[in-house]
Amino acid sequence: MKQLTTEEWTNVFKEAESLGVSFIMLAGGEPLLRWDVIEAAGQMKNILFPIFTNGTYMDDTTFAQLDKCRNLIPVLSIEGDKEITDNRRGAGVYDRLIAAMDGLHERNLLFGASITVTTENIREVTSPAFMEKLVSRGCKLVIYVEFVPVTEEAKHLAPSDAEREYLLTAMQALREAFPELVALAFPGDEKADEGCMAAGRGFFHINSHGGAEPCPFSPYSDVNVRDLGVRGALKSPLFLALQDKGILDDDHVGGCVLYEKRDLVERILAGESV
Ligand code: SF4
Repeated sequence: MKQLTTEEWTNVFKEAESLGVSFIMLAGGEPLLRWDVIEAAGQMKNILFPIFTNGTYMDDTTFAQLDKCRNLIPVLSIEGDKEITDNRRGAGVYDRLIAAMDGLHERNLLFGASITVTTENIREVTSPAFMEKLVSRGCKLVIYVEFVPVTEEAKHLAPSDAEREYLLTAMQALREAFPELVALAFPGDEKADEGCMAAGRGFFHINSHGGAEPCPFSPYSDVNVRDLGVRGALKSPLFLALQDKGILDDDHVGGCVLYEKRDLVERILAGESV
């Protein structure tokens, strides 16, 4: 299927604005490779757009656009220190990320960092020493993205309940140590929120082809915003079933409630009553 066009993304942003949405995360792939979408987002001054970027496509044109459209906030993905980042993402990536951060800082542009949190790096990436390096480079926002496994082999990397608790406590300590820093976790504290906030309960995800999905980590879709718009997507049979049947309220052991219930989700998508 074709990716959404510039006009289709513009329509999505405008409809979202009319519904009172003030925060849309742009993620990829690499969102900076869809420059038309970045320009369309830049026009929507009432919506804040964190742009989750790998940080390796930033040049003077990017900096100029970010300077002109302050509602666009780059959030650079970093995995930890140089060794960990380069091991995961390729040699030289860490230095390019640091150069991009320095370029943003020199121009006084607001930016953040996004860090995938696993059982293996949770202590390092929440340490004051690691955060000091980011804050000293001008980083004002950190988003901890909890690793969500989509295979059995990767399950051991998903933070457990105890590690999620640790993350929340560590974030609070970081906020106190670095008062100018905004620290968030995604999907966040699902227990405090009374369950998962996907499928339009707090947010949902639109993929590059327009498919409306409950969550970026849960790639199931039965409608397309190209056909039904944002309002229509929020009333999709899948979303309504997930909202109405208490499926998202259930407690789960790390990872993702919808991944654990993928058989049930597939039955809903097949039109079975559950
Ligand atoms: S769908 Fe899964 S990963 Fe997404 S918010 Fe719900 S539980 Fe978390």
